[in-house]
Parts: sequence; structure tokens; C-alpha cells
Amino acid sequence: MVKYRQIFQKIIDFIYPPVCPLCHTGVSIHGEFCADCWTAINWIDGPHCARCGYPFISGYDFDDDVLCPVCAAGKNELDWIRSACVYDDASKQIMLPFKHVGKIKYARAMANAMIWALRDVDVSNIDIVMPVPLAWRRLFHRGYNQATLLARPIAHAMGVNIDYDSVRRKYRANMGHKTAAQRAKNIQGVFRVVRPDKIRGKHILLVDDVMTSGATFAELRRVLMKAGAASVSGVSFCRVVHAL
Ligand SMILES: [Zn+2]
Ligand SMILES: [Zn+2]
Repeated sequence: MVKYRQIFQKIIDFIYPPVCPLCHTGVSIHGEFCADCWTAINWIDGPHCARCGYPFISGYDFDDDVLCPVCAAGKNELDWIRSACVYDDASKQIMLPFKHVGKIKYARAMANAMIWALRDVDVSNIDIVMPVPLAWRRLFHRGYNQATLLARPIAHAMGVNIDYDSVRRKYRANMGHKTAAQRAKNIQGVFRVVRPDKIRGKHILLVDDVMTSGATFAELRRVLMKAGAASVSGVSFCRVVHAL
């Protein structure tokens, strides 16, 4: 079976040679960025908060378990959060077309980077990978939930189930809320657990494309814990990094 799959992959590679999703330069494996595009992205590969993954200025030699001021103040309730890169002009070249122009071919490379971002956390207890739900109205307009496209390869790599129907999200107009407090208020009460039987006792990994203030992850965690989840952690492709 494996042999047939390898032969099949060779045929696919011959017909559709693997190329970098951004610049179309040839690469060795499907779903990889080329070296030039990879180095343009501000990957979170240095010292970071042990809990939320906030990147510290490199050059400092931190202990592995050091926390950022937000986590140290107990203002982050997720078990941990990791992000592959910083949301900036370079990662926007991937993020915006992926989210708004249907460039779903970027999903594999993005998910690979997210799996890499999980290298220093223990994922062995994760039971469920859950893409942050999209309101039905947005799903209808966009045609896909970008978080689901990222969650699928991650769940597959971890060998666990993906859950995209236990939680529903109400539509709420995006009113350009800028501050963390406004974002937190706008997201309050948008999620509803409709299948608590699938949530109870489970260790859940949330998946999103971008983490802005962390309010979405925090609110989703709140409803999941209320429904009996054992733990909730999160991973995003990129994150907004404010000076702390
Ligand atoms: Zn490239
Ligand atoms: Zn932190």
C-alpha cells in the first residue's frame, strides 16, 4: 500500500512539481516555502514566553520557563499558546490572500509552520483539534473556514480527531474594534457549545490563522471549560506582537 502511495506521489510530483506557494520557485516537497520566502517571514524561533509564546527580544538568554508580564499576571488562562510567526508586512503576504482571496493552497505550508511552532510543548495529551468556528454567515460568504484548512493537517500530524461542529458561533459585525478591551467585549457570548458530550473531559487544541489580542481563544476556552473540557490550548499561524 505504502509503495503504491509512493509511486502515486512520484506521478503527482511529475505532473505538478512542488513549488513555493508564494513565489512559485521549485521546492523539494509539496507544501513548503522556498528558502527566500521562508527567511522573509519573522518566525518565532527564539526565546519566548513559556505559556503564550510571546517572543522576547533575541540575544537575551532566558530560562525555558520564563513568562511574559501578561502571563505572569495570570491574565492568560489557556494552558499554552504557540504561533509560528509575527503578523507583519511579510506574513500579511500569506495571510491576507489566504483569508480573503481564496489562496487555500497556502494552507499546507502554513500548517507545517504551525506544527513546527509546537516543538517545545507537550501535545501528547491532546484529544481534539478544534478550528475556531466561523459564523455561518461568514462561512457562506467566504466559502471556507480558513482555520479548518489549517486544523486538518495539524490533527492529521498529531493523529487525533478534528472537531468542527461541537461549537457554534453567532454572527457579529466586525466594527473595527481596536483595543484588547473592545475586542474582548465584542467576542463575549458569541460561542455556544452544542455538543457538550464531545467536549467533556477532553484536552482541546484550538487552531486559528491569526491571534490578535487573544480574546477569541480566551472566550472559546471559557465556554469549553464550562462545558467540561479538561484543558484548552491554542496555536495560530501568526500573532500580533505589541510591545509589553
Ligand atoms: Zn518562495
Ligand atoms: Zn505570555
